[in-house]
Amino acid sequence: MDQILNTTDYCDLPSRGELYAETNPFYKKDRIPFHDMTAREEDIMANKTLLKNGVAFDRVLQSVSETPNADINDLTISDKQALLMRVRINSYGPEYKISLKCPECGLRQNLVVNLQESLDNALKFVKPIDETLVFYKDCELARISHDVFSFVTRHNKHKIVFRVGHGADEHTMFRMEEKKNRERSKGVVPKEDIDRGAVLDTFKMFIISINGIEEKGKLAQMIEGLHTRDTYHIREVFREVSCQFKMMTTFTCLNEENCGYEHEVEVPLNANFFRPDFE
Ligand SMILES: [Zn+2]
Repeated sequence: MDQILNTTDYCDLPSRGELYAETNPFYKKDRIPFHDMTAREEDIMANKTLLKNGVAFDRVLQSVSETPNADINDLTISDKQALLMRVRINSYGPEYKISLKCPECGLRQNLVVNLQESLDNALKFVKPIDETLVFYKDCELARISHDVFSFVTRHNKHKIVFRVGHGADEHTMFRMEEKKNRERSKGVVPKEDIDRGAVLDTFKMFIISINGIEEKGKLAQMIEGLHTRDTYHIREVFREVSCQFKMMTTFTCLNEENCGYEHEVEVPLNANFFRPDFE
């Protein structure tokens, strides 16, 4: 044998392939093939420049993907996230060590997250697109194309047309995040403003029009003026239509002073996510 063959496994796609154009290799694929990480992919993760530019994860996913002629960035953000989780679990096991600060008492503590459990739990709540369309019938949710949808907000009855985010959008968001981090480190923008900015950035990126208005400047103004009830509604519909899921884990504070804090928290992705921890 002159070649080591890695067995192929499959990753279930949260979108079930329902958010792709017919020309997209992921069209109507409810699961996609990939192989476990090898020395080749480990080498990618060891490349500091790739890590710094946020493209290391992409290169790894592209390298393990076994869908012919497919660009990993054609996946929706949620499908790509699911693949990332599956590759991590297959390659290094489901256990992921993180360190979190208790939101109540501030004590930093280590915990081990079971990524498989978190992923299974999260995906249970993702509905197929057809069901989502029925669920949001009251706000006239309609499909315009494979990844463009429209609906009417409950509070001010704005007609929103939006698209689902893809891998390429993540790069734009990553660059925006980097810029904010630089500003944050310089102390020019207060933290609250940065967090608020994240919602606006997402809206500006994915909302195509409001009440038929597409012109960028006008649209941006409208977005900024949206009522909070409507922004809440928009985020909910975005989340459901995009088949978004959140990796959560239970955090129980170990503070001996009996802090007692116990809550579901989102699993943070850090630099150790793609690092073996075999010992
Ligand atoms: Zn605590």
